[in-house]
Amino acid sequence: MPSIIHARNIRFKYTQHWVLDGVSFRVRPGDYVGVIGPNGGGKTTLLKLILGLEKGEGIIKLFGQPVDQFTAWQKIGYLAQKSPVSQSRFPISVEEVVLMGLCYDSAHKEATPENLRAVHHALALTHAENLAKQIFSNLSIGQQQRVLLARALVSNPELLILDEPSTALDAGSREMFFALLGELNQKHGVTILLITHDTGEVGKYISKFMYIDRELVFFGDKEEFCHSQKVADKLGQFAQHTIDHLHNHGHCPLGCTCGHTHSTQEAHHD
Ligand code: ADP
Repeated sequence: MPSIIHARNIRFKYTQHWVLDGVSFRVRPGDYVGVIGPNGGGKTTLLKLILGLEKGEGIIKLFGQPVDQFTAWQKIGYLAQKSPVSQSRFPISVEEVVLMGLCYDSAHKEATPENLRAVHHALALTHAENLAKQIFSNLSIGQQQRVLLARALVSNPELLILDEPSTALDAGSREMFFALLGELNQKHGVTILLITHDTGEVGKYISKFMYIDRELVFFGDKEEFCHSQKVADKLGQFAQHTIDHLHNHGHCPLGCTCGHTHSTQEAHHD
């Protein structure tokens, strides 16, 4: 199967210290990868390298093409932690915000009937179609995030990259947002790479974990994550099983068959 992202022996430093060192992995079509690791571990830097915003050593291929020759950016939707639009009070409508997502080739996109159809389709995917005519800055943070997700989806991307999209959301909106990403992956086949601190929710939906702490500590499916000695060495014995713990009592919260069980109390101590 062809890889959507192929990273081989990535190394990168901003100044004199390696921020990423010897990172290799493949993201395949249909994967939903949860990228976790400590603060400063290099997660955002890895995204910047994947998006061609920084250049390091090693090889990164997107859809089989080296990132510095890649031009089909409409195949990739990106949602950052903080969007300049979310901080603006400018009276721009939801439709206009989503339309901006069609400007991947830096050309202004007109509100043609075809483009508006794409906008409404993306809003429908994120269950935000009823917000189309509203002013973006009047929306709640949770609604704004669904609209920004629609903007990331409007070019019909095959790969969605998200950098801590749930940070500003309350618990209810966060749960809805992760369920929505799960639906995009499972029903619509969108490949997802999600950086998150929200390990309390992410284990339910993802298919693979990537644990980055300068080096790639772990990359593989949930079941392997549960059994990884390297992860246990980093997180503490058995702590990997407690990810998504609060939502699944009595059996391994990652949904693997490791047979590990935990009490709620244990979860609160982690
Ligand atoms: P994470 O996303 O896992 O928190 P980052 O990729 O943001 O990690 O950061 C990795 C390391 O690189 C950290 O030590 C951080 O301080 C450093 N760093 C990040 N951005 C820059 C920058 N623009 N210039 C210099 N150092 C940076």
